[in-house]
Amino acid sequence: MHQQLSDRINSMATSQTLAMAAKTRELKEEGKDIIGLSLGEPDFNTPDFIKDAAIQAINDNYNSYSPVDGYVELKDAIIKKFKRDNHLDYNRSQIVVSTGAKQSLANAAMVLLNPGDEVLLPCPYWVSYAEIVKLAEGVPVEVPTSVESNFKITPAQLEAAITPKTKMIWYSSPCNPSGMVYSKEELRALADVLVKYPNIIVVSDEIYEHINFVGGHASMAEFDDMYDRTITVNGVSKAFAMTGWRIGYIGAPDWIARACNKMQGQITSGANCIAQRAVITALEAPVSSIKFMIDKFKERRKLVISLLDEIEGFKTTEPEGAFYVFPDVSHFFGKTLKGHKINNATDFSMFLLEEALVATVTGDAFGNPNCIRLSYAASEDQIKEALKRIKAAVS
Ligand code: PMP
Ligand code: GLU
Repeated sequence: MHQQLSDRINSMATSQTLAMAAKTRELKEEGKDIIGLSLGEPDFNTPDFIKDAAIQAINDNYNSYSPVDGYVELKDAIIKKFKRDNHLDYNRSQIVVSTGAKQSLANAAMVLLNPGDEVLLPCPYWVSYAEIVKLAEGVPVEVPTSVESNFKITPAQLEAAITPKTKMIWYSSPCNPSGMVYSKEELRALADVLVKYPNIIVVSDEIYEHINFVGGHASMAEFDDMYDRTITVNGVSKAFAMTGWRIGYIGAPDWIARACNKMQGQITSGANCIAQRAVITALEAPVSSIKFMIDKFKERRKLVISLLDEIEGFKTTEPEGAFYVFPDVSHFFGKTLKGHKINNATDFSMFLLEEALVATVTGDAFGNPNCIRLSYAASEDQIKEALKRIKAAVS
């Protein structure tokens, strides 16, 4: 049979993070001793108090469809969380719970973009942003940064990228993949540009909020003049080690939340009911209950930075949050290492996989072709061994 897939799926790039994770799994099954530093996934188990809440929910017979935009009790927990951690006031009609923050982002694109609308993506951006935007027939517009600018865009760069077609700007802070964190002052300076263009909507992806080593998380919606056009995206995958539970959420202007609710009413009928009940418990717990994981990430960050500093050719900034480092490896471009010609970051990442047996992700996937991403959500032993192997492979 002639396999006629849609142009939509044919033109979509595969998620490089998930592709690398699949490749790592495959090679491990073949018996290869691969160390996976490709996937941004905490190596902790979900804390017991959250698991217990899920078990309780099963026993309490939570087995029917939930409201499409989430249980009222979960929305109330999210409202309290936004108030407690972010000084943001939302009401129930502004909250939508989805199947992961990934779906929250997809909803935002689908309900706001018309064909040809431009979405500004400060680089490097999280791997799925550009493809989600394209799926919604929007046009991703990259705003470049580099290791030298600490991977932050300036207000002047932002203003220069705006055109009459600019509909949205999407960014994550703490950033996946660079680990940079915008301070409140830096966000205010960007907001000062955006207020001049009242039709631009901001997607502020704050999923790494709690994994912040410099302190002082800032939300764009905290500014009164940005609140009405900011979608605050968050979720439990990272800070609560709940990637597989698939719960994310937004706080947004009413009209956008209503549209997202309508969208997922046709696509998912709402998120998993057991996971939602467990997330009520997760969000109601004090942030101190997850501090042990954040402290571990902090130790590992120190370790990975000090080990990377010992390898010639890796130019690295000190990540301020999340659990990634994003070294510039352009030093190796044009060189031949162990018979592999390295022309770009993708070649280098493949070289590391084949010769060092370490899985990383090429910076191309994040809109920055000079870098690779390493996730340090791995054990200290794995980090030490991985960096030892990388050092040996490139020296
Ligand atoms: N945003 C960023 C920046 C991420 O790194 C991730 C990681 N998966 C997501 C959104 C999506 O998270 P999830 O769908 O697991 O909630
Ligand atoms: N966000 C993680 C990452 O960047 C998980 C993978 C994914 O959802 O694409 O690795």
